[in-house]
Amino acid sequence: MKFEPADAANDALALVERSEPDLFDVAVEQFTIAADVLGLSDDLRRILSHCQRELTVHFPVEMDDGSVQVFTGYRIQHNSGPGPTKGGIRYHQAVTLAEVKALAMWMTWKCAVVGLPYGGAKGGVQVNPKLLSQTELQNLTRRYTTEIQPFIGPNKDIPAPDVNTNPQIMAWLMDTYSMNIGYSVPGVTTGKPIVLGGSEGRNEATGRGCVFAIESAARVIDLDLARSRTVVQGFGNAGSVAARLIAELGSKVVAVSDSQGGIYNPAGLDLAAVTVHKARTGSVVGFRDADAVSNAELLVLPTDILIPAAMENQITAENAPRIQASLIAEAANGPSTPEADAILYDKGVFVLPDILANAGGVTVSYFEWVQALQAFPWTEHEVNERLRRIMSRSFDAVYGTAQKYDVHMRTAALVRAIDRVAEFTRLRGIYP
Ligand code: NAD
Repeated sequence: MKFEPADAANDALALVERSEPDLFDVAVEQFTIAADVLGLSDDLRRILSHCQRELTVHFPVEMDDGSVQVFTGYRIQHNSGPGPTKGGIRYHQAVTLAEVKALAMWMTWKCAVVGLPYGGAKGGVQVNPKLLSQTELQNLTRRYTTEIQPFIGPNKDIPAPDVNTNPQIMAWLMDTYSMNIGYSVPGVTTGKPIVLGGSEGRNEATGRGCVFAIESAARVIDLDLARSRTVVQGFGNAGSVAARLIAELGSKVVAVSDSQGGIYNPAGLDLAAVTVHKARTGSVVGFRDADAVSNAELLVLPTDILIPAAMENQITAENAPRIQASLIAEAANGPSTPEADAILYDKGVFVLPDILANAGGVTVSYFEWVQALQAFPWTEHEVNERLRRIMSRSFDAVYGTAQKYDVHMRTAALVRAIDRVAEFTRLRGIYP
């Protein structure tokens, strides 16, 4: 039996060609822009622009045909000043060390923007999981977990799902860690199935938090969501939930995509029917009531709201001048380059940056961790209301910072985050 995550099982063809700039260089460039605004000291710049710990593992997995393959994986911890480190694990054929380092750094800033007691981390394995059987996927997960076990733990570093990983994979990770230690440790990961101590609302949290942020932004830029159009790139966990929830607020979702391509209907897509089509065929492509569009075309379609919810480096200096949306909400991590940021700012496009727009995922992961430590579950209503309050408060704080320093929202979010993490670093000092 082949592994079929929420997404298409047959999109191996669409392996994303990512010959873009080194993603960690992009993360450091963004950091430097915000550090300049803050007037951060050289010492703090040196500390915060490095990842604290970088683990690379090469590990064998026995395949169904009896052969053995060796896979490469990473677990990176950017900064543990604010608390245990936290960040997802990505399974993707194009995972690189630079990408995982960038994602770990962004996790530090993301947790700081919404005020969580965590530093940032990220993990990844170079693998196309859609080519593995369920047994191979489990073997890979358990061996990768064992390799990174000395690095992780409920008070140390807490993984979660990311691209191509899901609650089942988190359950195997939690079980492997627990078996190795000798007792159950549900707090070692978040994004678990609810029966194993997962949180209500975690699966939808990234998309839901993104839509809460859009509601705040829409008020500021005077955008009537009930009369708006939305385009979503990436119809996976983050994108499909964001699409459904923005549609519930009255926005017409006119285009969505996945790694196979996109579909467009200016009259609005029937998202329930698209979801059924995708579950049946493995992709949104081929949906009957829509025209086919490429992922590149989709980004520049006429729309009010654009939600990139797939991979990095999608909005660049090349396509930013042609973007028609007035509001971009980055459900994905790192979808825009710094050059694109400057162009969009000059054009007056309001960008909700990734470290704010997709912080709902780690926020509800934090709720899950708290519930696991207390062994006391909350209702979905409690989870969603607390999430709404945190997203709304964080938006207001970042927007206020953008006004104060006359900078765009990404730099404003980074300024707040870096200031907070720098304070931890200053107060804790350097030991030994
Ligand atoms: P997912 O695997 O559930 O979905 C990813 C989707 O993107 C799939 O539909 C896939 O087909 C599509 N895709 C892949 N490459 C594409 C391309 N080049 N063009 C268009 N579509 C493409 O993953 P996810 O968890 O929804 O993550 C998506 C993004 O959101 C990632 O950047 C991730 O880091 C970020 N994110 C996720 C979470 C979370 O809780 N899952 C939290 C914060 C941020």
